[in-house]
Amino acid sequence: MIQSKQASANHSVWLLFTVQKSRFHFPIFYVLLLLCLASCATPPPTALPSPTSTPPPIATSSPRSQATATQEPTFIAPTLAPTPTAIATQTSSNNILPIFDTHAHYSRNSWSLYSPQDIIAKLINAKVARALVSSSPDEGTRRLYELDPVRIVPGLRPYHDDVTTTNWETSEKTLPYLEERIDSPMYVALGEIHVHVQNIESPIFRNAVKRALARNLILHIHSDAETIRGVYKIAPDAKILWAHAGLIESPQTVSQVLDEFPKLWTDISIREYSIAPNGKLSEEWRALFLKHPDCITIGSDTWIPERWTSYEKIIEHDRAWLAQLPRDVAENIAYRNALKLFGMQDAGDLEK
Ligand SMILES: [Zn+2]
Ligand SMILES: [Zn+2]
Repeated sequence: MIQSKQASANHSVWLLFTVQKSRFHFPIFYVLLLLCLASCATPPPTALPSPTSTPPPIATSSPRSQATATQEPTFIAPTLAPTPTAIATQTSSNNILPIFDTHAHYSRNSWSLYSPQDIIAKLINAKVARALVSSSPDEGTRRLYELDPVRIVPGLRPYHDDVTTTNWETSEKTLPYLEERIDSPMYVALGEIHVHVQNIESPIFRNAVKRALARNLILHIHSDAETIRGVYKIAPDAKILWAHAGLIESPQTVSQVLDEFPKLWTDISIREYSIAPNGKLSEEWRALFLKHPDCITIGSDTWIPERWTSYEKIIEHDRAWLAQLPRDVAENIAYRNALKLFGMQDAGDLEK
């Protein structure tokens, strides 16, 4: 029932291949994918603008309990964190939908243009109450988390130095990098990771997944439909957040895959202008949202600084097509599904 695509060994080739096969002819989609190819390269060594060069400490104790595994951590003093009341004021006034952005990055390529303070200000301006952030390297995420441990929900990705989207599943540097960090209670996810179906048997990939699941982390996976099926074969109980709704998969295919796996969620990052060309919600995406109102989430994917530059517009665009859905479905996609995914249903400040 699902038309999967075979991923090639090279991520860039895979992207080009799938673009040719995809139904998308919207020019911005091609521009984004070309830029995405560039993102696979190791970014230039840009210093992170910060008052200090020492990253915040990584806690190695006090793992979250089962019941509170994904709630806000407390091991870094929230000196600049907004209070829940402040967030409620920022997100719910004038009936504006709170947004949980489940796909953000603050990677090295953005550090010279935007400071951590700039990024937090952008989230506040866009009235984004929570953001799942993962970065290459991880230091970017920790800088944001240090500033705002309520709004920033950290994910851990293995990319650093010469460990990239294309070689992390086989690099001997991957597991030590993850091991150094993964016991920190601040992380709720492994990823966003780029998974290639031919590497699913790799011991490094399997160990990374095993380690993440032992910590009750969700897997935030950038892949096609076939790869999602492959991951579920080795990790049938995993909670997976499927990035970009498969990026090149049709809404119909996404719907089929969601039908197959009850613990699968998907974020719509990068798809926003296909979902609502010229602002009008497309009928095929509307059908997907109405059929699966409980497992789709908003995502921006700020993988290049230009996405941060246009961040507020991306979120505004998302709010515009969400407004064309029934309010309860829109609220689910905007933030409730993400709260459920991360076990944060008690984040009552978003509901006020
Ligand atoms: Zn991605
Ligand atoms: Zn991404």
